[in-house]
Amino acid sequence: MKAEMRREVTSTRPHPYSFDSLFIDGIWRRGRRGLAMKSKDPYTGEVLCEIVGGDRTDVDDAYEAAAKAQAKWASMLPAQKAAILQRVVTVIEARKDEIVNWIIRESGSTRIKAEAEWDAVRQHSLAAVSFPYRIEGKILPCDVEGMESRVYRQPIGVIGVISPWNFPMILSTRSVGPALAVGNAVVLKPSAETMVTGGLLLAKIYEEAGLPSGLLNVVVGSSSEIGEAFVTHPIAGFISFTGSTSVGKHIGGRCATGPNIKPVALELGGSSPMVVLDDADLDEAAGAAVIGRFLHQGQICMSTNRIIVDAKVYDAFLERFVAGVKAIKCGDPSEPDTLIGPVLNRKQLDELLSQIKAARSEGARELLGGEPKGLVLPPHIFANVTTDMSIAHQEVFGPVVTVFKAQGDEDALRIANDTEYGLSSSVFTRDERRGVRFALGVHAGMTHINNITVMDFANCPFGGEKNSGLGRFNSDWVIEEFTRDHWITVQ
Ligand code: NAP
Ligand code: MG
Repeated sequence: MKAEMRREVTSTRPHPYSFDSLFIDGIWRRGRRGLAMKSKDPYTGEVLCEIVGGDRTDVDDAYEAAAKAQAKWASMLPAQKAAILQRVVTVIEARKDEIVNWIIRESGSTRIKAEAEWDAVRQHSLAAVSFPYRIEGKILPCDVEGMESRVYRQPIGVIGVISPWNFPMILSTRSVGPALAVGNAVVLKPSAETMVTGGLLLAKIYEEAGLPSGLLNVVVGSSSEIGEAFVTHPIAGFISFTGSTSVGKHIGGRCATGPNIKPVALELGGSSPMVVLDDADLDEAAGAAVIGRFLHQGQICMSTNRIIVDAKVYDAFLERFVAGVKAIKCGDPSEPDTLIGPVLNRKQLDELLSQIKAARSEGARELLGGEPKGLVLPPHIFANVTTDMSIAHQEVFGPVVTVFKAQGDEDALRIANDTEYGLSSSVFTRDERRGVRFALGVHAGMTHINNITVMDFANCPFGGEKNSGLGRFNSDWVIEEFTRDHWITVQ
């Protein structure tokens, strides 16, 4: 099977795209520091890409190139910017197979997830084509005779983007596309785990689309080496960070306390609840829980971490859910019907195994489990979980789900909100008014009635409350995020 996969890679990989660690001012080059970094296939263990990482001087070069290129870009006509962004979409479409294969290989994504990620990359890139026309200022009423009071909306300048490894290409894209579209330049630091799909491949796409040099720069390097310089760089006017809550808190802190105070968007961890009220369609709910938890082996910020079921339908729901989970195909992510592929690496697996051990020892009822094969962990279901257990308060970034029994709507809402996180959520009920009332009580940025917790549309606000972060992506929300207001009066 390994030989088979290798053949597949050779047939989709060689092609004009090969990678250096840095794309700065339109030039591909190696890092000065000379430390080798590797990107690996989590399923086969194969090394996919080996580069020499960048250091602080490379970060400097990237920000300087961005600052140099930005003013001219900002002054280009909206039609000129839109034409380039439209070509980005064309390249994404033309290179679909290559992109999907890279996503499968580099982050152990199943084909289902990789295709969904490609589609999201296309949708969000397409949405950005309209942004150059959607930046609007205002003329305000004014009480001073002979004065005009105006608000200009201007680009911030240079935006630093940091993305994680789980949905690397879309999580870079949803910052990079909009940031450029509203007239900024960008320096992007992908996770070293997904250097290609999170950054280098994206740079190739924008390069091929004809984006002028210096507007998108990519620096791959070790976070401990370049992270601080990247975030606190004086040229960076805004940091758009997606990743864990612990790293996000640190970065948010440095944006406030570093030499130059700067705004930050933080899209962080989650522990999304899916609530099943006593009048829910249980087949629908069970199906949504299977996909909502196990897509990408549960490594999604919006994954259904906790299932909260009304006691009246608890057993009937579990019967359907367990049957659905038993039917999941685990293993080779490149096969079209695999739902659970490998987790990212040994560290992630060890973390999951220790969470499983704790859940067992704290008395959760293990309805389904099993030993990992390589990095593929079979689905685990823990029932009768209570809010005093440690697993109830952690983000579980893998194919492990907790199920809680609630005594009515109020109790379900209490359990749903008993978390430091507030990203996504969902509630199942046949009564629309009851569903909306419940949704409004959830402390989260997003709640879906009768659907899965994993949802992102390019025209809807995406983001979290509490320790899930600050700010909103997509459409008008991200246009506002990546621009600044300048009040100008004319006497
Ligand atoms: P992470 O460890 O926080 O890393 C995120 C990014 O930050 C990576 O590029 C990482 O680079 C970089 N980084 C780490 N330490 C840094 C530092 N001191 N300074 C600057 N950059 C630094 O998160 P992850 O493990 O990649 O991703 C999983 C987490 O992301 C989960 O908690 C998940 O819920 C969250 N997430 C949130 C959203 C959302 O939209 N809310 C979406 C997806 C994922 P290296 O990896 O190279 O160290
Ligand atoms: Mg990490």
